[in-house]
Amino acid sequence: MARAAQAVIDLAALKHNYLLAKELASGRKAVAIIKANAYGHGAIEAAHYLSDVADAFGVACIEEALQLAESGIEPPIVLLEGFFTADELEPINRYRMMTAVHSEWQLDALEQYAFSQPLPVLIKFDSGMHRLGFDAEGFAKAVARLQKLDHISDVIAMTHFACADELESDYTQQQIKNFHHACDRFDIAHCMANSAGTLHWPETHGDWVRPGIMLYGASPLDQDTANAARLETVMTLSSELIAIRELPKGESVGYGRRFITENPTRVGVVAMGYADGYPRHAVDGTPVAVNGKMTRIIGKVSMDMMTVDLSDQPDAKVGDPVELWGNQVDVNQVAACADTISYTLFTGITTRVPRVYKK
Ligand SMILES: *Cc1c(COP(=O)(O)O)cnc(C)c1O
Repeated sequence: MARAAQAVIDLAALKHNYLLAKELASGRKAVAIIKANAYGHGAIEAAHYLSDVADAFGVACIEEALQLAESGIEPPIVLLEGFFTADELEPINRYRMMTAVHSEWQLDALEQYAFSQPLPVLIKFDSGMHRLGFDAEGFAKAVARLQKLDHISDVIAMTHFACADELESDYTQQQIKNFHHACDRFDIAHCMANSAGTLHWPETHGDWVRPGIMLYGASPLDQDTANAARLETVMTLSSELIAIRELPKGESVGYGRRFITENPTRVGVVAMGYADGYPRHAVDGTPVAVNGKMTRIIGKVSMDMMTVDLSDQPDAKVGDPVELWGNQVDVNQVAACADTISYTLFTGITTRVPRVYKK
């Protein structure tokens, strides 16, 4: 009756990955990063399922934070980019959120607003990402200003890495050095590691880690590692064959005639397209699994459908299951075939695709 495209979310795997992050960081505190609707997995569902284990939840803005707070999430919510306007301090106070601070005007606002009970804040140090945060001099002044405020309980030093996913890069070491140089004279907690840091750079674990993509089972690292191999797949994007056709040699498939058959070819049409969030830029040869067997995309992905090679599957029929990514098809391989990263694939899944939660 219904179109079969769906994203099954394995919540037990999500919890496994969160607990793995904690284990790798030797039990340090871990902010589960669930911004952008938990990277497309559903923030409310993810947060409720993790709320008995998570130390905190990280989001990008007050709108995302309020959605969680108003749904009754207990662990503290961290605003990773801080507040965008001073009037957000009121809901931050009301729901006892933890905000990042990256600019002078935010310090001014914090000096002018008193939380009803002391709250911790994270102060961003720019160790080399050069996006948000204070330089060493500004950082020292900012810490001094925040430590004077009675309504701030703790000041936590935070920084973000530009290439912790590149295991051969020496830039992460440089950033760590810059961070310690700026922070070590203050008695404050450290919060540095994203997923790549959590998985691969133990010297970045500090007091708090901030795992994001690894919670969703995808490694950001540019090489396979033993730690990354312990991640469990969370999202399975699947659909079904809705038509099958036999084409002779020399016929094209789909828009722009990108793919031309080199032999007589059995072609499967799958109910999944770029309006579902599947990447339109996926090349011919991008892996998919039909009936649990690996095959490839042939022809351009269209809005609602895509075409796959069934030449090795003479028995495939309409209604057979297709996995676009999940346990069989590595999302990182699909990303590589579309010249992108797992993050954009996960966050790009549209509302047309029902999320189905499995515990
Ligand atoms: C998104 C984000 C993270 C998580 O990054 P991953 O690479 O997904 O682990 C960590 N810290 C900050 C500040 C972020 O914005």
